[in-house]
Amino acid sequence: MPLIVQKFGGTSVADTQKILGAARKAIRAAQAGNQVVVVVSAMGKTTDHLVSLAKEITDRPSHREMDMLLSSGEQVTIALMAIALESLGYKAVSMTGAQIGIKTDSSHTKARIRSISTDSMRQALDAGKIVIAAGFQGIDDKGNITTLGRGGSDTSAVALAAVLEADACEIYTDVDGVYTTDPRLLAEARKVMQISYDEMLELASLGAGVMHSRSIEFAKKFGVTVHVRSSFTDTPGSLIVATPESNNAVAGMAIAKNEARLTLVGVPDKPGNAMRLFARIAEAKIATDMIVQNIGREGRTDISFTVPGNDLTATLDVLRTVSEEIGAERVDFQEDVAKVSVVGLGMEKQAGVAEKMFRAVSQKMINISMITTSEIKISTLVSWEDALETLRAVHSVFRLEKAPSQLNLPELSVKQKQANPIKPELDVARLSGMEEILIEAIHLDQSQARVTMPNVPDKPGIAAEMFERIAEAGIVVDMIVQSCGRNGRAIITYTVPRTMLDTALGVTKKLADEWKSEEPLYNSTIAILSVRGTGLRSHTGLAYRMFKTLADGGINVNVISTSERNISITVNNDQGEQGLQLLKKEFANEMI
Ligand code: ADP
Ligand code: ASP
Ligand code: MG
Repeated sequence: MPLIVQKFGGTSVADTQKILGAARKAIRAAQAGNQVVVVVSAMGKTTDHLVSLAKEITDRPSHREMDMLLSSGEQVTIALMAIALESLGYKAVSMTGAQIGIKTDSSHTKARIRSISTDSMRQALDAGKIVIAAGFQGIDDKGNITTLGRGGSDTSAVALAAVLEADACEIYTDVDGVYTTDPRLLAEARKVMQISYDEMLELASLGAGVMHSRSIEFAKKFGVTVHVRSSFTDTPGSLIVATPESNNAVAGMAIAKNEARLTLVGVPDKPGNAMRLFARIAEAKIATDMIVQNIGREGRTDISFTVPGNDLTATLDVLRTVSEEIGAERVDFQEDVAKVSVVGLGMEKQAGVAEKMFRAVSQKMINISMITTSEIKISTLVSWEDALETLRAVHSVFRLEKAPSQLNLPELSVKQKQANPIKPELDVARLSGMEEILIEAIHLDQSQARVTMPNVPDKPGIAAEMFERIAEAGIVVDMIVQSCGRNGRAIITYTVPRTMLDTALGVTKKLADEWKSEEPLYNSTIAILSVRGTGLRSHTGLAYRMFKTLADGGINVNVISTSERNISITVNNDQGEQGLQLLKKEFANEMI
């Protein structure tokens, strides 16, 4: 008998009428001949309310008790949902995470799923019952209740679909699918028919709140097709699958409105310092993004990165300690900045996305204070007030509101489970750590060279001008990082194929003359070491392990680029091979 997992988010179960509505959807699936597992969130804004109750008592409630408190929200919904189903004449049973056997580690409030037992669910399903599972929660080895992090019910649902080998996984929410960007922020956003795991993962981790990013890690690892659709209508939604909707360079955009930028200024430029910084941040389980380490000058370098705004205080505490330990000059930070990103698998094959994005932003006279890129995304940091306008301008320049002409759509069928999980031999039932990182490949690229403009004016249009001129010269740029340097001057670094270095330097020198800035610096022999896999960013310790491994081998790290599926680090060419071997050894156990 086919099995279907349906997840209903907070708005979809906000009151008893909505719970009855969700129950009817489950009944329809059962009547169509499916076994049904329903995963629910807490009703409406219950979780927010519970958080604020604790905050009324103290700013620092213990994480264990927060989990005890927050998990109660889902427990209310499962019972009401089961009562609703029974009142409509159907057999149902509600189950908490512990009753199902969703085992997690003990990181309260951010727990990761280790294993899920299917026995109790199968028994109930075989007895003809609809199973109602509490999302967002699990239990650790010692029997403590844990939660998976805000928005984590999506992850519960996809994980259950994976272990039950469900034929369909439907995420019912208050929008009717995945849009090119948050439709509540931009009316012209378009619903996509289909989006790839890699794109959705990147969008989710860059701020698209429609799916919990870890749920997409599960979907990708175990080959679960996710159907995001509306709780309130029957229109088909969007499918999250292995292949993108089209070959277009950009698939969608994300905005993270409350970011904070931190800089450790004047860090002595020697192996181990970046490592120490990120080790401490990883220990605090803070996810960093947009890491930019400027090229060292006079023996010192600046390291900047962004964190979610609500992690600012905790990050500052860490930074102040580390700053003293390593003898940095000072800590600098900026609040109320927003990260606006474009994401698309097509970017790997098409040049020109960066300059088009920068030009669209500069035409609105908006200043970009930081830029980082990876092979499938470009992130820019702008001031909070400029964020929406940046989103609108870039969405429009890539014509994201228009349906793409070439569509790679899969056939919609009841049997939606995909045949191509990235690790097909994974026997999910036997896995001890379902959320462990998977490393697909470790690469050494010795084809690139690096150019740095150390002292460009920090004003709108600079990056646009620079990368347009470089593109006009026929040069395809790979990595780009820009950060605000000292005295408000920006520093832009990019990599190009070595064969193009002379041309790139020619163009860049000319710009330096025009802008009356310093001559560009360059390194014609860099090596880029990349680790590629799933869950790289949500496992906060991974970048740290890369730094540590390289630092222990005496290798100095230069430019860093991170995404959900790739972390790249630039090192000196003569240390490339040694770095590769060290990383292969370090990650031997996590390699597929
Ligand atoms: P649920 O409670 O069902 O889990 P969420 O609030 O977590 O719902 O997620 C749905 C919301 O995600 C939408 O209301 C929408 O505002 C927001 N969102 C952000 N980015 C996107 C996007 N790219 N596509 C669709 N919705 C998005
Ligand atoms: N109720 C939890 C939250 O609000 C989990 C979820 O809704 O996904 O974060
Ligand atoms: Mg959600």
